[in-house]
Amino acid sequence: MSGAASLASLATLAPYAADDLRSRGRRYPEPPPQYRSEFQRDRDRIIHCNAFRRLTYKTQVFVNHEGDLYRTRVTHSIEVAQIARTIARALALNETLTEAISLAHDLGHTPFGHAGQDALNACMRDYGGFEHNLQSLRTVDELEERYARFPGLNLTFECREGILKHCSLARARELGDVGERFLQHRQPGLEAQLANLGDEIAYNNHDVDDGIRAGLLGLEQLAEVPLVQRQLQEVQQLYPDLTARRRVHEVVRRMVNAQVVDVIQSSSERLRTAHPADIDAVRAHDRPLIGMSEPMHAQHLQLKRFLHEHLYRHQRVLRMTIKAQRVVTDLFGAFMSDSRLMPEEHYEAARRAEEHEGAAGRARCVSDYVAGMTDRYAILEHARLFDPAERT
Ligand code: MG
Repeated sequence: MSGAASLASLATLAPYAADDLRSRGRRYPEPPPQYRSEFQRDRDRIIHCNAFRRLTYKTQVFVNHEGDLYRTRVTHSIEVAQIARTIARALALNETLTEAISLAHDLGHTPFGHAGQDALNACMRDYGGFEHNLQSLRTVDELEERYARFPGLNLTFECREGILKHCSLARARELGDVGERFLQHRQPGLEAQLANLGDEIAYNNHDVDDGIRAGLLGLEQLAEVPLVQRQLQEVQQLYPDLTARRRVHEVVRRMVNAQVVDVIQSSSERLRTAHPADIDAVRAHDRPLIGMSEPMHAQHLQLKRFLHEHLYRHQRVLRMTIKAQRVVTDLFGAFMSDSRLMPEEHYEAARRAEEHEGAAGRARCVSDYVAGMTDRYAILEHARLFDPAERT
């Protein structure tokens, strides 16, 4: 890292923030960047990779072709980054690392959101399962093909640690350095904790907005959730004649703000009390130091439950979920029974993996191919494979 950049970062970072100068480094050592920090380089590599652009056409809740204004995985990831960066800066944490982790956190997501992931996990049951978090790490460590000297993006340990939010203990044992904390019950760095919480805040609130836009939720119905009710009352008092669209936005932005302010205040409090000397003290702490206050956490969970009941299980969403599961399951089955149906490079990878690891190796390559698909590519590929009227 260049001298000027490191001085600038030292002047603004809290002692417990992640610092480029004390990074645990990259899997394949590289010379430091000339004009950027190490974490800037991570962020830039993420933005330029194929998996990031694919997020544009991957479902958050609503399938991409259902409407142009709904969140997709990429706009979701940008909202996560925005929320997490605000909090990072207020707490003097490393804003760039927070942004990099936020932008990368969903890189391993399948087409069709959670429905696609559940279906792929079921397909992979006999071959080690499928975890989208682990797939995000696999994407940046192995699957991206961009650099001559190493596979993947060769990101810093701190960024990889943040991408791997959770994983099974069996997997953690295979992962080496980034898996250790799950076995030792340690925490990740604060920037990783923050990106995780930013994810929760972002989707809870934007799903309210998208659900209302789709006509599946109403503000009046949502008013049974205390977090919404408080903001709705305030908006109605201040602006009784507001149009519906502006009212929704005024309510949702206040909900985001209330949660962000709460996280900043309660995390500051926890940090003041715990007083970790550095990032290793953060990792050794018995619980996360970034978090909401108890009352806000309770309200956050109420909203989450409400969305599960009224949005994610809404008949219109469920119909699409079932179709999506069928597409993913059919694709996996077809490629698994004959890998030659996949494009040449995926077929070759599957053949090589099968030589070393048997059917599980082939399954992992099929799962990589299916997980990498965008919604529309998966739909198109499904039609090409199963509809005799379609051109192959
Ligand atoms: Mg997410």
